[in-house]
Amino acid sequence: MVSVGQAGHLRWGTVQCPFCEKDHDKVIDSRTTDGGAIIRRRRECLACGKRFTTYERVEQTSRLTVVKRDGRREGFSREKLLHGVLAAVGKRTVPRPRIEAMLDAVEEDLAKSGEKEVPSLRVGETVLRHLIDVDQVAFVRFASEYHQFDHIDDLRRVIDEMAARIPESKQQGKLF
Ligand SMILES: [Zn+2]
Repeated sequence: MVSVGQAGHLRWGTVQCPFCEKDHDKVIDSRTTDGGAIIRRRRECLACGKRFTTYERVEQTSRLTVVKRDGRREGFSREKLLHGVLAAVGKRTVPRPRIEAMLDAVEEDLAKSGEKEVPSLRVGETVLRHLIDVDQVAFVRFASEYHQFDHIDDLRRVIDEMAARIPESKQQGKLF
């Protein structure tokens, strides 16, 4: 259980309100702190309307090992992904809570797979799958950085694959 002012264990879902003890809340802000180890979430209780903050320790994905293309292994780092996404977003106006929420979804997807080791390529593709809904330019930048394309055709192929996966209604027109 997550308690106010302490790092807790619960990663996703609702927590008990410290005021009325109901467990219906919504997250109104989410922010990574302490080098990616802690996620600070501002929550609003849907029962009594009071707001409180939880500090949640990333546990599930912190045990995840990422296998890089050259075979080297390193621990999963949300902070590292965050830097990559922020670099891709650049000066475009994407609200930070939107990015943090996207990383939540990425971590959840990776944790759900139940595997202890994931190839770095899969981590990147999981980010891309979510990033395309957030910002399409950032998506293209992240894709080109991540895949280190040698040729524009490689980039085009990945974009086509991604575009094919998202519903027509969500697409903001053709990417290229
Ligand atoms: Zn409450």
